[in-house]
Amino acid sequence: MREIRHCPICAGTDRDLVYPGTLDTSNIVGARTNPYCSHYQINRCRGCGLIFSSPIFEDADIAALYEKAPHGNVESGEEGNVKSTMRLYYELARPHLLQRDRLLDVGCDIGLMLEFARQDGFRELYGLEPNPIAREKAQAIPRAVVSERFYEEQEFPASSFDLITFIHVVDHLIDPSKAVERAFMHAKPGGLVVAVVHNVESMLARMTGERFPPFNLYHHYFFSERTLAALFESRGFETVSVGSTKNCYSLGFFARRAPGIPARLRFAIASGLDRVGIGGLPLTIPVGNIGIVARRPS
Ligand SMILES: [Zn+2]
Repeated sequence: MREIRHCPICAGTDRDLVYPGTLDTSNIVGARTNPYCSHYQINRCRGCGLIFSSPIFEDADIAALYEKAPHGNVESGEEGNVKSTMRLYYELARPHLLQRDRLLDVGCDIGLMLEFARQDGFRELYGLEPNPIAREKAQAIPRAVVSERFYEEQEFPASSFDLITFIHVVDHLIDPSKAVERAFMHAKPGGLVVAVVHNVESMLARMTGERFPPFNLYHHYFFSERTLAALFESRGFETVSVGSTKNCYSLGFFARRAPGIPARLRFAIASGLDRVGIGGLPLTIPVGNIGIVARRPS
């Protein structure tokens, strides 16, 4: 296990304990752990209030969590809703774009963001996606150049992107400040970054406490609107907007996951909705994600 010694926002080293870790570190190897069933020790930085995991696994064990992950972030039947959600994320940036020469989507999955940017007139589309099955789909998008590398390993010319997007990426990183510094270097002056993460101050987080679903082994950082903006501003960006984002789900999908209701009741409700034929109804709701649009000053 390794300590996160310095806060990526304020570089402070003092922290308070929020929740003790639930990992049995005496007999657990990263590769054998179900990442959703436990969390690391959760801490709050005394300098800036950032909530973060520490100590965390060594790099090889963190990589193993992803390598053994069953493929498919997208549940069958929900593809259309995932697409609608991604369109809403692209719409965060669209009104603020100055040009549409080059887009980079870090963690582009099957390429939905690349496709929306292409339809909106972007000339060059770059994606990074380590998962080979998702990457193959993204590569099929006309003009898309998709690499298997992690952002930290991929070189791009400085000042080249009009938009860089990180959808559910920043809170997974070991040191998000490095990625934000790279994005500052790679964005054009006047260029934008969009990042979407879970909101640790959402109603969902308040209702669920330590059982807040993002408290799991995939997440090293837990942002609020304030700390998300502070991260980008600490590396030179100006915040254009920061706030709750909406997700599109079917009514049945949401019912199966509604927090604070016992599982058996949730599934009974969901199958009831399906029986009366409304389980597939689309919902657009703020469920506890926040998005920032930040600009590299001209
Ligand atoms: Zn801090």
